[in-house]
Amino acid sequence: MFDLIVRHCTLPDGRSDQDIGIQQGRIVAVHPAMAATAAQEIDAAGYLVSPPFVDAHFHMDSTLSYGQPRVNQSGTLLEGIALWGEFKPLLTQEAIVDRALQYCDWAVARGLLAIRSHVDICDPRLLATQALLHVREKVKPYLDLQLVAFPQDGVLRSPQALSQLKRALDMGVDVVGGIPHFERTMADGTESVRILCELAAERGLRVDMHCDETDDPLSRHIETLAFHAQRLGLQGRVAGSHLTSMHSMDNYYVSKLLPLIKEAGVAAIANPLINITLQGRHDSYPKRRGMTRVPEMLASGIDVAFGHDCVMDPWYSLGSGDMLEVAHMGLHVAQMTGQAAMRQCFEAVTTTPARILGLDGYGLEPGCHADLVLLQARDPVEAIRLRANRLAVIRRGQVLARTPPQVATLSVPGRPASVSFSL
Ligand SMILES: [Zn+2]
Repeated sequence: MFDLIVRHCTLPDGRSDQDIGIQQGRIVAVHPAMAATAAQEIDAAGYLVSPPFVDAHFHMDSTLSYGQPRVNQSGTLLEGIALWGEFKPLLTQEAIVDRALQYCDWAVARGLLAIRSHVDICDPRLLATQALLHVREKVKPYLDLQLVAFPQDGVLRSPQALSQLKRALDMGVDVVGGIPHFERTMADGTESVRILCELAAERGLRVDMHCDETDDPLSRHIETLAFHAQRLGLQGRVAGSHLTSMHSMDNYYVSKLLPLIKEAGVAAIANPLINITLQGRHDSYPKRRGMTRVPEMLASGIDVAFGHDCVMDPWYSLGSGDMLEVAHMGLHVAQMTGQAAMRQCFEAVTTTPARILGLDGYGLEPGCHADLVLLQARDPVEAIRLRANRLAVIRRGQVLARTPPQVATLSVPGRPASVSFSL
């Protein structure tokens, strides 16, 4: 007898009518017509059951702070950074914790059970670092929070940033961050990548840098990041976030760059909602989209995840923790409309970021953690199209959240009494 069986599931790989048997928080069997019984059963009724959503790039220290102390008028990245600088002295640990926990509630309700969040370590009090380390412990039973030590003001540009970054790592922050394009000069940016990669190699940590988040085609820190990842044997442990300059780079240069990124085992994290709103702001018309070259990187065998980046903060006024909204925007901006490409967009918010974060026991195979999301959709493409309802969210075999099926009632003469947006 199992603890839980979820019956009649369609899986993201297309297998249908599968039963998933769960015992002591793990998946123990996946096959059709399971004869076993269980203490609890859920009928998926042919709907899609996916491993949970994973957000590879987020800022939990600033989330849900929209309008404090004022709104970003220009809508640019640089005004966002300036605004965050104005807000930082006003932060309290309690307020950061409260906002982060509220966001984690939203995330759980949306089936988002693992988040890599950058935390700005440039505040000399390290308030946000302390707050998010506390939140990481607090949410551990229901959400995996991975923290990146992020020197928002530049690890070389801001005088104390390097020592504070090391202090944050000593306190238990998981990943080394950086922002080479924000350093004073291109040369300082290059130097910051070397310093930070060496620090990660010494400490056996992963690296995730905000890298080339600019429309300047000559911002080429990704090349340096790939170089040091390879030199230091960090393959599979390094991610370049944003990489928006690649959108504007010369095609010949990109044809040399992509194989180097692949060879170095560096992953890319695009942030479609933010990239499409922040990039191209200095253009008149035509306006560049600014998102990095997602299909081309995928075709080169590079892992590409989509991150949410921001929800209601100095950089972005919208969002609700819905990774299907992120995938939906990524699909549009990258023009990934083929069937296989749309499925890759679903992978970019599930299995690919799980690999980038190094999540243990993630997936739907026997032996994996019993972490599942039951979606009101028949397949990953329909899930993206509908930003489908998360009917049930399960973690370690326990139901954490439920949302009633979305069905509108109609009063249209001669038409059915209800409509569900599914064929
Ligand atoms: Zn970011």
